[in-house]
Amino acid sequence: MKRTIIYTRQSTSEKNQPNSKELQTHTCLKMAEQNNWVVHEIMHDEVSARTKSSQERKMLTQLLLEVEAGTVERIIVFKRDRIARRAHEYMEIIKLLKEHEVELCFSAANEPPIMPGMISDFLEYILAGMAQLEGNAIHDRKIQSRKIKARDGFWAGGSPPFGYISQQGVLSIDKQKVSSNLEESTKKEYSKADLVGLLFKGFIELWSVNERLDEILTKMKNHPKAVEWKWKDLNIETLQSRLSNRLYRGQLMQKIEGTFLRTMGAENRERIKSLALIEKETWLQANSMLSKTLSLFPLEEKEVINPLFSGLVYCGLCYRPMETKTKYYSCENTECTRRKFQVQIKTIDQSLKKRILDYWESSLDNNSNNELFQRLKVVIIQKCKEEMEQKKSKLQKAESNLIEAYLNENRKVLTDALRNYEGTLIQWKQECEKYELIQKGLDDLLLLIVGHYQSLSFEKREDVAIKIVGGLAEKVLVFPSKEFSIHLHYNLSQVKGNIIGSE
Ligand SMILES: [Zn+2]
Repeated sequence: MKRTIIYTRQSTSEKNQPNSKELQTHTCLKMAEQNNWVVHEIMHDEVSARTKSSQERKMLTQLLLEVEAGTVERIIVFKRDRIARRAHEYMEIIKLLKEHEVELCFSAANEPPIMPGMISDFLEYILAGMAQLEGNAIHDRKIQSRKIKARDGFWAGGSPPFGYISQQGVLSIDKQKVSSNLEESTKKEYSKADLVGLLFKGFIELWSVNERLDEILTKMKNHPKAVEWKWKDLNIETLQSRLSNRLYRGQLMQKIEGTFLRTMGAENRERIKSLALIEKETWLQANSMLSKTLSLFPLEEKEVINPLFSGLVYCGLCYRPMETKTKYYSCENTECTRRKFQVQIKTIDQSLKKRILDYWESSLDNNSNNELFQRLKVVIIQKCKEEMEQKKSKLQKAESNLIEAYLNENRKVLTDALRNYEGTLIQWKQECEKYELIQKGLDDLLLLIVGHYQSLSFEKREDVAIKIVGGLAEKVLVFPSKEFSIHLHYNLSQVKGNIIGSE
């Protein structure tokens, strides 16, 4: 028999919030009871959705494995955001559930049900995207409080720099000896704080103007004391970040969301000063050496390009999908009229982003009357009707079966037919309710999206536009004339634009 499973997730930050584990479980159980579903298992994850992707959520992973094994009939969760905070993860999970015909139910009173048909993907995306935005708002508040902490000279999160311990943000020097694996007789134990001093001293001694940072590091690793002084564990990144850490000279600078924040207030600064592990002069000397080395031999920067629209970009000449090569979308079709037609990923992605944002925002401007929203509403309602019709014909069939069974005067057949009719009737009623809910709530839902959207920062608005319009895009044709056209699902008009920027 297939199983009904309740899945709950609680973030570490949500302990005292209205979506506690208890509340989630309670509403899910209540929903099961109202529908006469036997609950076979309750699965719970305790994580932070912002930092961990769903792959790292143990129970969810297990649940999805069971879905794949075909043992699950239905999953009850509190809200969409319990499944995944990131829209694309959520969509992947939804896809899996659909493939295995697993019903997903939401127990929160104000959570819209899964929409019917093809359009559901799009709306689900918006709803999941909004859950993600709410997640971001929580994230923003956390950032704010971290910034305040940083300005007051407290450690604002993450593990403190090597050589320090943090207790609720109050930093102190780590004086505990680090055990070494050396022979007892030669063993001399150092604290992490001692090791910092040795690192600066060693770097200054072994530094030479005509060597690269990795060459200096190799020299350090080959030093007779390398094991004792823990230089064997160093890599270029740790060496560089330790040497340039200002805390070792008694200044605290923390980078939060791209901004460097310095300790404010004389008293706070005095407290930080007492945390210095080395002389200011030593620090300055090491850092002028380090910057000389890095200016002569810069570290290679690996440029990471994440194509935003891979799989969607098509060659405008042969209409085949273009492949993603390190920096280019490239037409690899040997029969294409233009051999190896290429466009730079960066350029086209930026141009598309800009155009999509324009399109989306102009759609919002003339709100209820614009093509995108009108079309969406029509398609959603149409899909709902189709599904209702299906349920209706099922009901009619059950009805005629019932009449036939009645005329047959066979008790067993009649009981079965009656049970079947009752079941179909319930399904029909549910479908009607859903239809009504969607019909009534659709304008509100779209308004909610618009309202939510307009209160966002530019970066987030861009993000939403790309998710929504990008999610609607069927393909993007790119032409050597530097023009492109975005073809959208649901018979929406094409969006045309030009590739901006040089190749
Ligand atoms: Zn081509």
